[in-house]
Amino acid sequence: MRIVSPDFAKDFRCLAGECPDSCCRQGWQIDVDPEHRELYESMSGALGERVRAALTESGLRMTDGVCALLDEDGLCPIVKELGEEGLCRICRTHPRFLEQYGGVREVHFSLSCPEAARLALMRETPISFCEETTDEAVTEPNELDPDEYTALLALRDGAIRLMQQRRQSITDRLALLINAAEAFQRVLDRKRYGTARFVAARLRVEKIQRRTLRGLARLRDEGTSFLPDVALLRELETLTAEFPAALHDAVFTAKSGAEFDRENALAMEHMTVLWLAHYMPKAVNDGRVDTKLLLAAFLTLCTRRLCVCTGRSPAHVAGLLAKEIEHSEENVAHLCMALEAEGWSAHLIAQLDRRDDYAD
Ligand code: SF4
Repeated sequence: MRIVSPDFAKDFRCLAGECPDSCCRQGWQIDVDPEHRELYESMSGALGERVRAALTESGLRMTDGVCALLDEDGLCPIVKELGEEGLCRICRTHPRFLEQYGGVREVHFSLSCPEAARLALMRETPISFCEETTDEAVTEPNELDPDEYTALLALRDGAIRLMQQRRQSITDRLALLINAAEAFQRVLDRKRYGTARFVAARLRVEKIQRRTLRGLARLRDEGTSFLPDVALLRELETLTAEFPAALHDAVFTAKSGAEFDRENALAMEHMTVLWLAHYMPKAVNDGRVDTKLLLAAFLTLCTRRLCVCTGRSPAHVAGLLAKEIEHSEENVAHLCMALEAEGWSAHLIAQLDRRDDYAD
């Protein structure tokens, strides 16, 4: 099995009792896998009794949104006694999302975890992805079209490299990225997989970039309102109390993002890269790479807007969006479907007012 993960994966350590926003206190449903249910049901001693008292038909019981097992010191009694091996699959995996593509397992991190967000967003160097091969056998059936999958990886690589091309301002990079969604989709629609590398490489050609940006100038100068984005986000199932309040602020505050972009270009680059990396290959399931790319840009632009309006940090707001969206397959699917509608690319690009007075 080939394992692909972001370079900071090796540095990740759960903050456990020191965590300022623990995943054990989010009220999330914690499903217990059959293997660990069997272990917990047969466990002897006081821990066994405690775990069984917390077990429900589907998983672990929550008390006021907090895992019923959590000790007062914020530590998990299963980890204290059995180590991480004792944790059920979902607790051991979090904050990672594991995505299987044939013989490749991609590991992505949720920014809902403050430590993952710190490692991912508060850094200077571009995020890179590391690969290792393990002895683990591939057991899942592989139904991937290898040509389509390879094309998607090439398109993703091109999108990520564009986002890391720091000679452009972050707003220009995002405008170029969003503008590329249509060309990327054509590669899949026409099954011209062999052209993916070329289409992706064109994105980074300076002369083409200048021409594209000139073509987008009027749209960007016209600007747009954030209301369609808020309306779309309000269609989602809400998972936190903070989210609706943040959306309310976003509607009623009119502030420029100029200063934010200047100070947070790196964080915006990193979060877009992570979201592109996670979502673009998922186009193997439905053939829509454009909506996956737009989803990444949409999440970044929502983070930007909500930061400007609420005064919260990119790590906090990206974490909030991750909780609301990434942890709900329904919400991700709903957004991707909504972003299929014509006009979203132009709307997102129009949010990227031009600021040619600085480059990152
Ligand atoms: S949110 Fe992250 S750091 Fe905090 S307890 Fe969960 S995994 Fe650990």
